[in-house]
Amino acid sequence: MEIIINKTKLRLIRGDITDQETDAIVNAANSGLMGGGGVDGAIHRRGGPKILEECKKIRQSEWPKGLPTGKAVITTGGNLKASFVIHTVGPIWRGGNNKEPELLTDAYRNSLKLAVSKGLKSIAFPSISTGAYGYPIWKASLIALSTVKEFLEKENKLDEIIFVLFSQSDLETYKDVAKEVIPNV
Ligand code: ADP
Repeated sequence: MEIIINKTKLRLIRGDITDQETDAIVNAANSGLMGGGGVDGAIHRRGGPKILEECKKIRQSEWPKGLPTGKAVITTGGNLKASFVIHTVGPIWRGGNNKEPELLTDAYRNSLKLAVSKGLKSIAFPSISTGAYGYPIWKASLIALSTVKEFLEKENKLDEIIFVLFSQSDLETYKDVAKEVIPNV
């Protein structure tokens, strides 16, 4: 599925984020920035040790207590096809009344802002927080897509944003929600 919003191409695909050739891919990291399971594990495995080295330096110099939920930082992409990895921390789902929507919005918005501030043109997102962190996929996709849409309405420096969904059912959910959130699709 492909949609144009204010000059930026938005694509929804099924795939593995570590295969993407965008300028940056986004990592659904945890605040420790030391790797983990899911997308995080896949990115560090494919990207090699350079990414972890850079994460350790960021912890030492900027975030000794860990990267707070909703913030984003950038490293190079190591052996990945993508030149950069943007690491952001989504919220853990705790029933929905603990600022989960605001924090998930921040994770997407801060990743997008960081990409633009570095002059990047293309970025691939996974479905942040919907794996180990347990955020319901429908609610999370609504936030992901509406945050990207709002961002692109004010900002046209990006050429392409790709949502890379790992399962067919996640892709179907994102497509259904995109039809609701983004008119004229
Ligand atoms: P979180 O801790 O933020 O929930 P996870 O990595 O556990 O992050 O899961 C986020 C989403 O990413 C889940 O939908 C999961 O199926 C998906 N996922 C896992 N591995 C990959 C991958 N290699 N590429 C794209 N998506 C992936």
